[in-house]
Formats: sequence, structure tokens, C-alpha cells
Amino acid sequence: MARYVGSVCRLCRREGTKLFLKGDRCFSEKCGVDRRNYPPGQHGQGRPRFSDYGVQLREKQKVKRMYGLLEHQFRRTMKEATRMKGLAGENLLSLLERRLDNVVFRLGFATSRAEARQLVKHGHFTVNGRKASIPSMRVKPGMTVAVGEKSQQVSRIAGALETLEDRSLPNWLEVDKATFAGTVKAVPTREDITMPIEEQLIVELYSR
Ligand code: SF4
Repeated sequence: MARYVGSVCRLCRREGTKLFLKGDRCFSEKCGVDRRNYPPGQHGQGRPRFSDYGVQLREKQKVKRMYGLLEHQFRRTMKEATRMKGLAGENLLSLLERRLDNVVFRLGFATSRAEARQLVKHGHFTVNGRKASIPSMRVKPGMTVAVGEKSQQVSRIAGALETLEDRSLPNWLEVDKATFAGTVKAVPTREDITMPIEEQLIVELYSR
């Protein structure tokens, strides 16, 4: 399956919540969810009624789209989460949060995860001083994620860092704007993920 290239605001409207897929626009009055808070399509303004399965499916789609994963990537992460100690749902969110593209977004080096993914793939970042260009790379506590020396001049990165206040930095990360470097202080816990996610529904979906 190819990566989704259609309107991302449609995805937010389908899930009925802001997924923050479009950078600065998501914080402006142009946000699609704020302007048209009903599902996309010809029958969008009707009230959708979901079965239990439908509710679980929508929750999974919401999280998958939020982190920009394909189905097989998401399923693989879910499998890994169920093999770990602790609650599978919380493990899943922790694994998703620790992806390098998400960390770059959270540290404020990009205005959306999609932009972060592209910047990572273009080789603008280092992890512990070594070039890292794989968006799915998983970070660990103690690791340093930094913008490469030449890449500090890239206006998209510098511009995104300036607007970090709008998006707030999570407790498990630390950033030094002057040196364009961030540190992973801890493994993210459930409390660190403030988006409205009911991860138990996703666990139930995959255990059917
Ligand atoms: Fe979603 Fe952002 Fe579009 Fe709003 S502007 S609908 S949050 S992608």
C-alpha cells in the first residue's frame, strides 16, 4: 500500500478530532476540524453510528494516522507491545512516542510528524553524534538527538523551533535551542501522552 497523499484534514474530520498533521495551520483558524466539524464526503453531515468493532477500528485508525504509520508498521508495533511486560496499550503508545520522527517533532525541530519524517529521511539529524536517517529508529533514555551542523541553517527547522511554545515540550524530553540539540531524559509514560487516546480499544481490536 502506498503512503496516503490525499488531504490530511479529511483524516482529522473522519476521526472527529485534531490529529495535528499540518503544522502551523493546525493552530490557526483555518483548521479543517474547527471550520467543518463533521465527517468528509457527501453524507458527512449525518450522525455516524458505530458498532463495537467500528469504535475500535476508528480508534486504531486515529492513532495510526496521528503517527503517520502504514497498517503493517502499526500492526508490527502492536505485536511488539503485546510481547513486552506491562499493559499492551501503554506499551504501544510508548513505542510510538519513541520513534525518531516523533521525537524530532516533539523537540520542536519540525511542525508536524510528516515534516519531521521528511527531514529525518533527508539526513538533517544526528543521534549521539552519528547521522540518523531512519524515521522508525527508536530512541532510548540518555540519547541526544541534534540537528546536523549544516542543517541548522535550514529555515524550516529554525522556524519550527521558534514556534515550539505553541506545541509544548513533553517532560521526558529536554531541548537546548541554542545548540539545536535535544536529550531523551526517560521512557515516556502514559501520563506524558496527553492526546485523547483510548488505547484499550486498539488492544481489543487486535485481540479479536
Ligand atoms: Fe487536522 Fe491540522 Fe487539518 Fe486541523 S489543520 S484538520 S488539525 S491536519
